[in-house]
Amino acid sequence: MADVVFRSIAWSNTRILPPMTAAPRLQKGDVVDLSVTGLAFGGKGLAKIDDFVVFVTGAVPGDVVRARVTKYKKRYAEARVVGLLASSPDRCPARCTSFGSCGGCVWQNLDYGVQLDYKARQVRESLEHLGGLHDFTQRPIVGMADPWRYRNRADFSVGMSEKGAVVGFRPPGRWDSVLPLTECHLLNRATEGVRETVESWLRANDLPGWNPRSGTGYIRHLVVRSAQNGAETLVSVVTAPGELPDANGLVQRLRTSHPEIVGILHAVNGGRAEVSSGLESRVLWGRPFLLERVAGVSLRVSINAFFQTNTLMAHELYRIVSREVLAEGDAAAPGETAATGPVVWDLYSGVGSIGLSLAKQVGSVLAVEAVPAAVADARENARLNGISDVHFLEGDVAKVLRDAADGVLTLPEGSALPDVVLIDPPRAGLSKKAVSRVGKVGAPRIVYVSCNPATLAPNAAQLQEYGYHLERVTPVDMFPHTPHVECVALLVRS
Ligand code: SAH
Repeated sequence: MADVVFRSIAWSNTRILPPMTAAPRLQKGDVVDLSVTGLAFGGKGLAKIDDFVVFVTGAVPGDVVRARVTKYKKRYAEARVVGLLASSPDRCPARCTSFGSCGGCVWQNLDYGVQLDYKARQVRESLEHLGGLHDFTQRPIVGMADPWRYRNRADFSVGMSEKGAVVGFRPPGRWDSVLPLTECHLLNRATEGVRETVESWLRANDLPGWNPRSGTGYIRHLVVRSAQNGAETLVSVVTAPGELPDANGLVQRLRTSHPEIVGILHAVNGGRAEVSSGLESRVLWGRPFLLERVAGVSLRVSINAFFQTNTLMAHELYRIVSREVLAEGDAAAPGETAATGPVVWDLYSGVGSIGLSLAKQVGSVLAVEAVPAAVADARENARLNGISDVHFLEGDVAKVLRDAADGVLTLPEGSALPDVVLIDPPRAGLSKKAVSRVGKVGAPRIVYVSCNPATLAPNAAQLQEYGYHLERVTPVDMFPHTPHVECVALLVRS
């Protein structure tokens, strides 16, 4: 499209610039008409003026939009849609009244099938362009049949409005304000109801929300986690230091309105960091953990332990992991027999969900996790499920790998060096050091579960140095309506 550039001199006075051929001399505040042709990392629309890239907030591929430039750099610009000139056929109506201002699910206006196509493409392009990897099989992306109300966890922020405390989400880029919320279609109804009850209790007691700019106020966050498809709910009110006023009133209200609640906690954050997890907490009523079921195992999940936020898709994810770990359809790796099954190391194991779900089919599992509450849950979970050949090490994965690579790791009785190393790290992926240590451990297979293809790609490329080849990758949509994508990669050592 021959893009016409409008330069805004004042809000009421817009000068039209002629179509451009060379790199545009844009500036902040300019208004441009753009054809949006793709999606960028983070979910923004991608448009080009000749070869110059513009990231467009609020646009989907196929749109023709009028957009105001919000940032201009040498190599790219950012812009925000001010008018839709032609609508993409892939657009669909957003369900949520807060869509656009909330920022929680930027793709709600994009057809779900198209979202899946883009995520699959993002995985392939990351592996090819960021990892230089080409010779691998990509399986079709696994999506959700009903991609709504899938989140089992909400971390609400609490702020202030003229009506009193507000329990909602921070709008994108606004670390100091909270958007009032009437609905969220990613949360289950129980979670939405708990939010409303707590907000009205805060207002009835005149309790002030937190102001992160001044470091004043009292109520900072509300964490609501649920299990068994909303049959169990755990609530944690996070405040600045100080006794929680009317705690009994809160417990009464919550228990009366929400019989699915199994525990109510008060957590204290005395620091400046905006964290809602990993804090000291006190049980006001009930128990400090949920009981979940996934992939054939029962799991205790404590308030401070990680668990996959989409339980339904966690089943799918673990099914794929199990297929890759067990090398289903592949020849058994040397040293493995059907009778013993492979020895698996489950690194970044959380509450033990993957290792425990595999336990019956594999030889033994050694699980490594840094958060003590998660390790305690994992040990309890092994007991709960009557599983004895899973061993849990509390510690930093990089250090455990260093000791293993140096041959000085004291293995718990009954465990052995791995046939399969299973890695499920946080978004940052593995450090170069951790990669080299995994490489030196030298297991025949690595199954890498990644929530960030942009870190999986370089890690998979680095592992080539240690003889590993990326065999196949399966993307899984754990986070519909957001640009995030999970995937399971199988790497085999030649
Ligand atoms: N595999 C688990 C958890 C994955 S999330 C599941 O599917 O539920 C990543 C986990 O890694 C979290 O539990 C986090 O506490 C843990 N973790 C993060 N950094 C770590 C490190 N350096 N060493 C060990 N565990 C770590």
